Amino acid sequence: MKNNPVETVGIWPLTGIRRELDYRLPEHLQGKVQPGSLVRVPLGKRSCLGVVARMPGEGPWPLKDLKLVSQVVHDQPVFTPTLLRLAEWVREYYAAPMEGVLETMIPKPVRQGMSVQTVKFLAPGKKVLAAEALAALKKKAPRQWATLAFVREQVFAPRKSLVKQRLGITDSVIKGLLEKELLREEERVADRDAYEDDLADQEVVATGHELNDEQTAAVDHVAASLAKEEYATHLLHGVTGSGKTEVYLHLIRRALDLGRTVIYLVPELALTSQTVGRLRRRMEQECGVQTAVWHSMLSAGERLDAWRKLNSNEARIVVGARSAIFAPLQKVGLIVVDEEHEAAYKQAETPRYHGRDTAVYRARLENAVCLLGSATPSVESILNARRGKYHLEKLTKRIDDRKLPRIQIVDMKREILSKRGNMGLSRPLVDKLIDRYERQEQSILFINRRGFSKSILCPDCGHVCMCPHCSVPVTYHKFDELMKCHLCGYVETVPHKCPACRSEKIRQKGFGTQRVEEAVRKILPKAKVFRMDADTMAKKNLFREILGDFRRGRIDVLVGTQMIAKGLDFPNVTLVGLVDADIALHLPDFRAQERTFQLLVQVSGRAGRGDRAGEVVVQTFTPQAGPIEYARQGDFEGFLENEIEQRKMFGYPPFRHLIHHLFQGRNPEKVEFFAEQWMRKVEQELGDRLEIRGPAPAALEKMKDQYRFQGWYFCPSVSPVIRDLQKLRDDFDWPDDIRQILDVDPAGVI
Ligand code: ADP
Ligand code: ZN
Ligand code: ZN
Repeated sequence: MKNNPVETVGIWPLTGIRRELDYRLPEHLQGKVQPGSLVRVPLGKRSCLGVVARMPGEGPWPLKDLKLVSQVVHDQPVFTPTLLRLAEWVREYYAAPMEGVLETMIPKPVRQGMSVQTVKFLAPGKKVLAAEALAALKKKAPRQWATLAFVREQVFAPRKSLVKQRLGITDSVIKGLLEKELLREEERVADRDAYEDDLADQEVVATGHELNDEQTAAVDHVAASLAKEEYATHLLHGVTGSGKTEVYLHLIRRALDLGRTVIYLVPELALTSQTVGRLRRRMEQECGVQTAVWHSMLSAGERLDAWRKLNSNEARIVVGARSAIFAPLQKVGLIVVDEEHEAAYKQAETPRYHGRDTAVYRARLENAVCLLGSATPSVESILNARRGKYHLEKLTKRIDDRKLPRIQIVDMKREILSKRGNMGLSRPLVDKLIDRYERQEQSILFINRRGFSKSILCPDCGHVCMCPHCSVPVTYHKFDELMKCHLCGYVETVPHKCPACRSEKIRQKGFGTQRVEEAVRKILPKAKVFRMDADTMAKKNLFREILGDFRRGRIDVLVGTQMIAKGLDFPNVTLVGLVDADIALHLPDFRAQERTFQLLVQVSGRAGRGDRAGEVVVQTFTPQAGPIEYARQGDFEGFLENEIEQRKMFGYPPFRHLIHHLFQGRNPEKVEFFAEQWMRKVEQELGDRLEIRGPAPAALEKMKDQYRFQGWYFCPSVSPVIRDLQKLRDDFDWPDDIRQILDVDPAGVI
């Protein structure tokens, strides 16, 4: 038998099946398959994709009835052994089906076996013209001259198509240059790179800074961990503008020098193009290392190319949003998680993994260092540091000892009573806006909401226009005069009369970005005012253009939702206004206080980054609220003590873990009934290991015509109980029309 082994492999199918299946390797595929290979296998009458998890000898033995693997999809394995283990962990910890985990981890074009393309690039040729010859060319063939100049200016050889498009030239211009050997053409495997056009933007300065004492200490500590090649997590708590990014860049360099690779996570990549440019240029110039960019807006081709570069070790750094944690890099040495407190790291759909926590776990598997950074670290991470699980590094001072801005709190109740405000902007804020404009300094106004106003409210009867499918008010969009539901996309025209009492006074309540933009235009008719929100964000380049214009001082006032608060670094901004600080406070979430505090600190951090001191105006209806007061005093420790005490009292995370269970269906009685039956079952079976709350209606009771109920489980630790909970759930007799979702360590549940 031994001489002629039947090669069996264990495979995770990318389909609804919840377990590994065994297959046999046909002769022609023997030796071509490794753990992590993507293969095609027959399953029933269909054929499906699968990832090889186990190799021969390890599996059940002998199994002559096994079906054969039909095909290998890529020559190279799509997973490293570490990624296989990470996938197992995500599946188990987040109670997710393996199919979903694998689909998240292996980009679609890779699964589809899409192949690479080759593309032409232009680089300077053998011949170099002397100044006179160059001047002659300029006269004789200005287009050729301009093309040559453009190509020579680039740090990297630009794509031919990009050059043509940028300069509006034809093939014949390039052909001329190629014939004269002033340019040469290179054919390479395509790198359809979403950030390529940034390379032509010479404004991003790439030079490093001499580190200050605090930065040096932080770099030294983390570098010591790196050198040990053992797992460690460091928490970098640095006030806004203290130079955290510079610390990351130095450490990335160290990790590369040690022959390791780097994952750099940011909460929202589009907002960090400044940082991406800085990182790419620095690493390319300093050590010739390529960076791949990874985020949700990549096209299929871009995604495939980025993945290929990482999988083949051509790029040794990946920078990206949450899912970049699954990048197919080998020998990862450093994982940076910037703004680690951000809720955006938690995926809101299956698999509901937390990017930061997954980063810490991957670092463990890779014997790597995880570096979490924030000006407002999460309570979870701070406690982990206090308990000795993380090393704490602190940057207490801003660069060049710049002052943290002064925060002024404006009580909006009084403002409204005194009728001094202007369309939602208080008098102090209006005065300061005018003052900054006159001094030719820049201002940013942040709004917590999206759209022109949150809801449409009748002042006579109090009727609020609701989405007929979801239990939320619809949102008014001035641009197209429509009301839209932000949950299900329902659209309707705005009524002229109140649907309830026929009053014609039905009008907009609250204020969104559009309304604030309008108010600012009224106050400062000559100023250049721009708005940035989710709608602007949707256009890939518009966003970067606006930021570019703002940096160059072509915009006086920038109005945006709080999501633009992250990472912006503009020296000429001396005023920041937060128009509605309260919204986050009223969310039905035990993290509401923490989110409000973080929002205020992050928003304030955008002011006073240059030589001039900054000022911050916060408008609120609840000036005495804890987080607002702590933020005004810049008292992180005070806020933390208070928050930790509260969490401890109620047994909230991080003192215990929380698992959320959502039940939904069209018939509310039925949903509630089954939720109750289920919770009773959990109490019986797992009551000694879980504390149970619910079922109760979810904060958002109805969405897309589905009625929603929720249950909560509290437990000291997830791993010992999650497998049993999941098994119990799989075995429970759920009716077909009830859907339920488990969410482990939820972030902001609605
Ligand atoms: P943070 O991420 O902590 O908010 P940044 O890393 O963006 O701060 O740094 C703020 C600004 O200070 C940036 O413009 C950066 O280039 C600059 N900077 C960082 N470190 C130094 C340093 N050691 N010396 C001078 N300037 C620095
Ligand atoms: Zn009415
Ligand atoms: Zn809706």
